[in-house]
Amino acid sequence: MKDFQFPIFKTKIEDPTRKFNLTNPEEIREYFELKAGLEIKKLRDYLKNNTFIAYLLGKKNSGKGTYSKIFSGIVDKERVAHVSIGDVVRQAHQEILDKDKREELINWLSQNYRGYISIEKAIEALLSRNTETLLPTEFTLALVKREIDKMERKALFIDGFPRDLDQVSYSLFFRDLIDYRADPDFFILIDVPKRVIDERMKFRVVCPNCQTPRNLKLYPAKEVKYDEKNKQFFFICDNPACKKIKMVSKEGDEAGIEPIKARLEKDERLIKQAFSLHGIPKILLRNSVPAEVAKEYVDDYEITPEYSYKWREEAKRVEIIEKPWIFSDDEGVSSYSLLPPPVVLSLVKQMVEVLHL
Ligand SMILES: [Zn+2]
Repeated sequence: MKDFQFPIFKTKIEDPTRKFNLTNPEEIREYFELKAGLEIKKLRDYLKNNTFIAYLLGKKNSGKGTYSKIFSGIVDKERVAHVSIGDVVRQAHQEILDKDKREELINWLSQNYRGYISIEKAIEALLSRNTETLLPTEFTLALVKREIDKMERKALFIDGFPRDLDQVSYSLFFRDLIDYRADPDFFILIDVPKRVIDERMKFRVVCPNCQTPRNLKLYPAKEVKYDEKNKQFFFICDNPACKKIKMVSKEGDEAGIEPIKARLEKDERLIKQAFSLHGIPKILLRNSVPAEVAKEYVDDYEITPEYSYKWREEAKRVEIIEKPWIFSDDEGVSSYSLLPPPVVLSLVKQMVEVLHL
């Protein structure tokens, strides 16, 4: 049993005639216009002269990047930035290896970094880090500050910090560090059942050229093909800006969450810790809805279906079969998983409240 429960957010509206295909970008826009047009306008007006700092906290593969990308896409791409700590650290690693950029980075650090270990030792830790060890927090924060200082002033989604329990208290003072002292900050906590993360990993495929992600079970590409020799279905990248190439799965993904169980448990403790903080607003996003009450809270088209495929030998074509996906959540409750847009809808509405708009 979890020690805390996220409320179910109602996204259903009383208009049974209007349905949306929430994998189509144009219909996603119309969906938000209908269900949150007023709130989106308020946020846009707010962002003209103001910013915010939002800490995204969710388990690995809980959709943090997806949600913030949809949010900025519908609210204001120019005024909202997604800062991934993982990306910032990887970029610093590249700069250290690059003769021309190395010096600039070290100069900057010598003027801005303060911490318990020397810059040299910190750089050693950077170059030898792996997924289990964390860099010293002071060093990571210095790198993040540098990244934010380089940007035009924008509202920020911080993804990947705090990452450990002892980093939570740093986040309470983070806005002072980056000179955003007067801007509101809040946590966005994301609750996703383990089963959903497991399926997202097991069936994930990506375009080797443009990195567009899809999922064989939960999110098909427009074009599905069949490899008769290996008896396998596969997707063709449908990014209009890309070539029509075969999407592939990543080695190790077939094991699902098994290899990252310890990490997921750590992430859960972190969410619990943030949940109990006082004085900083929290937006609670939940990915799943108990099947028993789904009709009351969400519209059918907001639920993630599951897909399977059949090869029609006679017609030489793939048939796509769509049906509702029901699974047991972490407490054993039969549940549906929401598509990203309704989760972002609840983010938009809760943010308007948090910012008192
Ligand atoms: Zn592609």
